[in-house]
Amino acid sequence: MGRRHTFARSERLSEREAPGLEMTTLTRDRHSIRVPIPEIFQAWELLSQAADAHLQDHFAEAETLLIHANMPAVYEWAWVDWQKPSLNIRIPRPENDTKKLPKDQLDPIRAPKAATKRNVLARDGHRCRYCGIPVIDADIRKLLHSLYPAAVPWVSSVPEKQHAAFSCFWLQYDHVVPHSHGGRSDEDNVVICCALCNFGKLDYTVRQLDIADPRTRPPQPVEWDGLERLRRAPSAGLRS
Ligand SMILES: [Zn+2]
Repeated sequence: MGRRHTFARSERLSEREAPGLEMTTLTRDRHSIRVPIPEIFQAWELLSQAADAHLQDHFAEAETLLIHANMPAVYEWAWVDWQKPSLNIRIPRPENDTKKLPKDQLDPIRAPKAATKRNVLARDGHRCRYCGIPVIDADIRKLLHSLYPAAVPWVSSVPEKQHAAFSCFWLQYDHVVPHSHGGRSDEDNVVICCALCNFGKLDYTVRQLDIADPRTRPPQPVEWDGLERLRRAPSAGLRS
C-alpha cells in the first residue's frame, strides 16, 4: 500500500524543490492543455484512502474522505478548458498537419474494441498519457455512487452536479490522431487519458493544441490501480 503513494509524493516533491522547473520544461515541450495542480493529487490521495477505509468496513470514514475529495479547485481545473475545446487551439493551421477526411476513408471502427482497450490499459496503466494525472474507470465511480450517493453525486451532463474528482479522473481512451482525420482505433493510435485531455482535445490535433505527441514518450505507469481493488474485493457491494 505504501508504494502506491510514491506517485503523489514525487510529484509534489518536484514542485516544492524545483519551483519553476516544470514551467520551463513545458515551455519547451508542452505535454497537455493544462498543468496539473497540487489539489489534483490531494483529491487522488483522499480517494485512495476512502477506498481503503471502505474495504476495512469503515464506511463513515470512507464517506467523509469522499466528500473532502470533491474539491472546487479540481472542478475548475478540469472544466474551464473542457467546456470550449476550440479555445484550446494555439495554432489553427499547422503546416503539414493531418486534415479531416471523408467518411469513407475513416476507420470503420469508431470506438476501440474491448481487447484494444485492455491492451492499452495494460501498457499505459491508470494514468493520463498527456498530463500524467491518475484516472479511474467509470464503473468504479458508478459503484461508489451507488454506495455513497450523497458523497459521490453524479448527474450526467450536469458537471456542477458531478463529484469533481471522479469527473476529473474519468478514464478515457483517446485517439491521438483524431478518428475524423483518419486515426485508427488501434493500440498504435489510442492512449489512456483523463477527461480534460480527451474532451478538451475534441478532434483537434496535438499540433493545433501545441502539445507533444504522447507517443514520443514511453508510458510511465505507476503503482496505482485506479481503485480497481474495489471491484475485486468480496465486500465491494456490501454496506451495512
Ligand atoms: Zn490528462
